[in-house]
Amino acid sequence: MYEDKTLICKECGNEFTFTAGEQEFYAEKGFVNEPQRCKACRDARKNAARGEREMFEATCASCGGVAKVPFKPREDRPVYCSECFAKMQEEKADDAADDAAAEE
Ligand SMILES: [Zn+2]
Ligand SMILES: [Zn+2]
Repeated sequence: MYEDKTLICKECGNEFTFTAGEQEFYAEKGFVNEPQRCKACRDARKNAARGEREMFEATCASCGGVAKVPFKPREDRPVYCSECFAKMQEEKADDAADDAAAEE
């Protein structure tokens, strides 16, 4: 009674198949709306909702350890592991405090 339907994903614009089986499943669940997104986009949104992000591994420019960063590291920019990054932030804060003291 159901036939595969081709729908357009409103997220990426690709065509995807709303299969007869899925239509039956939707009908059973009482869903009135057809899916708006292809499976890839739906999965991506699910992952985003869970706060999962793709992490990239790089070498820490300070200690040489493994640094995991949520962006693709660029070769012309140093990457630091979370420990070294935190240490640097502290040092920066100390410098700022010293500068402020020196101005008086
Ligand atoms: Zn899509
Ligand atoms: Zn490090």
